[in-house]
Amino acid sequence: MSTLVEKQQELINKAMFGECGSNGVYARTELFEQVINGLSRVITRHREPNTEVLRFPPVMSRSQLERSGYLQSFPHLLGAVSCLAGDEAQVRATVERPDWPTQLSPTELVLSPAACYPVYPLAAGRGPVPARGLLFDVASYCFRHEATHELGRFQSFQMREYVCIGAPAMVLDFRKRWITRGGDLAKQLGLDFTIANASDPFFGRAGRLAAMSQLEQALKFELLVPVRSAEEPTACMSFNYHLDHFTGAWQLSSENGTTVHTGCVAFGLDRLALALFAKHGVDPREWPTEVRRNFPFDEI
Ligand code: 5GP
Ligand code: ZN
Repeated sequence: MSTLVEKQQELINKAMFGECGSNGVYARTELFEQVINGLSRVITRHREPNTEVLRFPPVMSRSQLERSGYLQSFPHLLGAVSCLAGDEAQVRATVERPDWPTQLSPTELVLSPAACYPVYPLAAGRGPVPARGLLFDVASYCFRHEATHELGRFQSFQMREYVCIGAPAMVLDFRKRWITRGGDLAKQLGLDFTIANASDPFFGRAGRLAAMSQLEQALKFELLVPVRSAEEPTACMSFNYHLDHFTGAWQLSSENGTTVHTGCVAFGLDRLALALFAKHGVDPREWPTEVRRNFPFDEI
């Protein structure tokens, strides 16, 4: 198998991605889109019963993100939506200035950094969590202001997630099931992988402590695939236990007053697509029969 670094030029030359004039932001070709659609269908095939499906836009409420604690943990990754304000004359004068971006006014929107953030306030708005718990299937385009833009680290990427809200044991069981199922899914796609304890890229010195505590409590696992290199494999899925982080922020409680926790499993669709191309080559018609059998590949 050649690594993606070796294949990077080939992939781009073969028009996997169209340049969009910004690092880590690409137009996707028909081929890439077909693979993303195939992956989405494979993930849907693994959906558990009684899961509510919601698709979110790439933007979300700024105040909801603030209340979720994102600014404390990951301010360096956040992107916010700003617009030009004022009357016609003011706007016209502003856009004539070379420094016009300094004149932008904030809006009520930020770019979603993960697909599951909007689901907790949405669930809280419906009242107490039933004893059987809640399952959601969510997806959105996500944005992260990443410091580096090697292939596989996009600023803008598609995330699919399953989310569980319920009693702690229920959420832990959900995560355990999904760690197994995530591995099964990677096997069906013919990908080499490891699953490892992981931490999020928390901001600053306090963030390093938060990351250590996350590791100690084994709150996050990642499914890693050797996409760019075997030494630095790429996180293509994550399995997260949030304890009461979101239920505390949104006062999500159970019908009978018992503790409610949350967890999610996240699939990085663009990274999984890259992993497939890196492992099996750029022409899906030549992928191993075994993989093709598990992979719905239709025209878009
Ligand atoms: P997490 O919230 O665990 O950081 O991200 C969930 C999943 O989204 C990751 O396992 C990964 O597959 C995907 N992801 C995270 N950051 C990036 C990124 O910069 N680019 C791409 N393409 N996917 C990412
Ligand atoms: Zn999530």
